[in-house]
Amino acid sequence: MPRPILATIHLDALRHNLSVIRQQVGNSKIWSVVKANAYGHGLDRIWQSLMQTDGFALLDMNEAIYLREQGWQGPILLLEGFFEPADLHIINKYRLTTAVHSYWQLDEIAKNQLDNPIDIYLKLNSGMNRLGFTPKAYPQIVSRVRGIKNIRSVTLMTHFANSDNEVGIDEQFAVIERLQMNSLPHCLANSGAVLWHPKTHGDWVRPGIILYGASPSGRWRDIADIGLQPAMMLQSEIIAIHELPKGEKIGYGSRYTTEKPMRVGTVACGYADGYPRHAPTGTPVMVDGVCTQLLGAISMDMMTVDLTPCPQANIGSIVELWGKNLPVDEVAKSAGTIGYELLCALAKRVPVTVV
Ligand SMILES: *Cc1c(COP(=O)(O)O)cnc(C)c1O
Repeated sequence: MPRPILATIHLDALRHNLSVIRQQVGNSKIWSVVKANAYGHGLDRIWQSLMQTDGFALLDMNEAIYLREQGWQGPILLLEGFFEPADLHIINKYRLTTAVHSYWQLDEIAKNQLDNPIDIYLKLNSGMNRLGFTPKAYPQIVSRVRGIKNIRSVTLMTHFANSDNEVGIDEQFAVIERLQMNSLPHCLANSGAVLWHPKTHGDWVRPGIILYGASPSGRWRDIADIGLQPAMMLQSEIIAIHELPKGEKIGYGSRYTTEKPMRVGTVACGYADGYPRHAPTGTPVMVDGVCTQLLGAISMDMMTVDLTPCPQANIGSIVELWGKNLPVDEVAKSAGTIGYELLCALAKRVPVTVV
């Protein structure tokens, strides 16, 4: 019998979430962001459930080639652009759309012999200072791009730093508006902007995390009413039970001491499965459908949970680490991170089933 840990990927949830996004954005087209192996869900497992999308956005040439070879005919966008001149031939061969954020990339596009002109997303640095051309330089670059025969179309692309929090997008949006690039199609919105800043929707949107049913803000309550469904559930089982008297210590570092007699369970899931090692005592976990808490440190392969609220629990009881009943955002918040990181970090050793 295999170790009783399992991730379940719900394709219906992905389909449903895409349709929720479709309702939110009206006529804007949707790049489904499937970078990082579809946020840990497995690009190979899930891409067909998103066939209703208008395009797929990702980072890795190999993931782009994979989608083409699997038969996806629609647009594919390289969010970070290309990394070396030789990549241009892959872009050409596989008909990829590429972000362009640096002068060297423009130079390469201009000077190389390409079979077909390419579509580019010209990245504007509207304030995040990660990738892109400054607002000052942008109009001149657009003029230059117009003269490059190897370029078929140009879309203005930028990325928001605060679409999911109180700061919002106004400052960055004003930078975009001041440029008055109304002749260019616009692609601005990540998940936070899709949900909370409709004026940014433009021609194409780029949602990632909400496709997978988690929150861009890291707060589940922020998306609870939107009807998104978690696409990944991580489950394990109780593999041992201990009845402990008061004053017993639990796990590495003896970080937890029982304050009363307690029944505790050992769960076959640890940080080598992708569970965050920093999750402290009190982090929520579901046992047999009842919400309870972690106790003490997370080990590589195991963790300990409090069985006080679920006296019926026994060896073999199902433990949900995150999923349909326990939002990954809640676990992430407790561990001082975001749902994105937990989903992406699902370890290779965890068996995955697709339903
Ligand atoms: C990852 C990414 C997105 C999607 O972000 P979410 O917050 O997951 O919606 C959109 N655009 C770019 C450029 C990205 O890198």
